[in-house]
Amino acid sequence: MRVSRSFLPVLKESPSDAQVVSHKLMLRAGLIRQTAAGIYAWLPIGFRVLKKIEQIVREEQDRAGAQEMLMPTIQSADLWRESGRYDAYGPEMLRIRDRHDREMLYGPTNEEMLTAIVRDDMKSYRDLPRTLYHIQWKFRDEVRPRFGVMRGREFLMKDAYSFDLDEAGARNSYYTQLLAYLRTFQRMGIQAVPMKAASGPIGGDLSHEFIVLAPTGESEVFYDAAFEEVDWQQSALNYGDEIGLAQLFEQVSSTYSATDETHDEQRWATIPEDRRRTGRGIEVGHIFYFGALYSKSMGLKVSGPDGQMIEPMMGSYGVGVSRLVAAIIEASHDDAGIIWPESVAPWKVGLVTMRADDAPTTDAAEQLYGQLQAAGVETLYDDREERGGVKLGSMDLIGLPWQLVIGPRGIANGMVELKRRSTGEREELSVESALARLTS
Ligand code: ATP
Ligand code: MG
Repeated sequence: MRVSRSFLPVLKESPSDAQVVSHKLMLRAGLIRQTAAGIYAWLPIGFRVLKKIEQIVREEQDRAGAQEMLMPTIQSADLWRESGRYDAYGPEMLRIRDRHDREMLYGPTNEEMLTAIVRDDMKSYRDLPRTLYHIQWKFRDEVRPRFGVMRGREFLMKDAYSFDLDEAGARNSYYTQLLAYLRTFQRMGIQAVPMKAASGPIGGDLSHEFIVLAPTGESEVFYDAAFEEVDWQQSALNYGDEIGLAQLFEQVSSTYSATDETHDEQRWATIPEDRRRTGRGIEVGHIFYFGALYSKSMGLKVSGPDGQMIEPMMGSYGVGVSRLVAAIIEASHDDAGIIWPESVAPWKVGLVTMRADDAPTTDAAEQLYGQLQAAGVETLYDDREERGGVKLGSMDLIGLPWQLVIGPRGIANGMVELKRRSTGEREELSVESALARLTS
């Protein structure tokens, strides 16, 4: 993409209305703009990151055997009366009336809707187990929307729902999502730690939150460094391996992690000091097992092998897709701006010309841009007639993993500069080797 044809509004000044660094950087680098309290438009850069995160979530859900669908944002109040949550949910629910005075709502979650959808079609034990998910906007009328998209009112969530015949099956579905979450967050280049959680308004008895460590997190967290040591992508654990998944759950449960509310000083003291990790945390995912709660209240039943009727055991599994954009920035930035992990970066390379009025420089840049594009390397090409220093400053702010800088002095000798954003390391190398490096 050429910067000269892009809508990439970069602010020089730090916006005064933003309190946390991710919100400041998202405004300054032109990722989002607020359109109403807690409601944001995603500008081109922000939207690219959002899509990357969404795609990682999707691929890991698919790999774990969940099936994607799409449910609407607007729901009918009657659906929520069936489960009894219409009155229970309170003022966080945005309630709407249509022209016929029918009560509707903007969905804060989809347990009721999906239970109602499947109850007409899941008839027999052969129709289970199933896990379905969608990635859709939610609305929760938060009392205090704050920190930008971190706690918005409208936000993008992946929510998955599992249906099983019995508790053992449901636990296996839960463990499957647990592994999918560990893989998902690690692919995004962040450390997310599972914490045993109270199951709250959804009810039920098994629940974990996934917490990303960042200085501005909302809650205090404590965990054992063992969580940082496993490569979940490489792990040979197979989704069909029920025993392996149960062992994974035991392993996760026996490794220490806690919030300030659940922290146990005695157990903490038994962990070697160099393995203790503390900090503040941001919740980026939350998984629940709640048994037959909704099957019972909403009349979902299937016939078992011997004809008796069974109420499926369910779980639900949320990922805060839009919150993750902010959480990743909280976990990965410096004074100059954002440092995107490569897997979620809006582009891999920022190509910068130091002098737009120097023909050999712009010719080389045009040629490199074409070659990078042909090789499928996502490139943002700053071809503006701006001072080099200004362009480098916005590249640092936007935070692409690599900067490829072309200037008159270097290019006269066929040399360009390659900078790695995360370390600041720079290297002068020939045009050919730079290209080889970025396309390998
Ligand atoms: P929180 O405790 O942060 O209010 P929650 O427990 O109410 O979140 P869940 O119902 O577990 O949220 O929703 C699943 C995920 O959706 C959360 O883990 C979080 O990442 C994300 N999420 C929830 N509320 C918001 C919000 N207001 N803005 C952005 N993301 C949100
Ligand atoms: Mg939660």
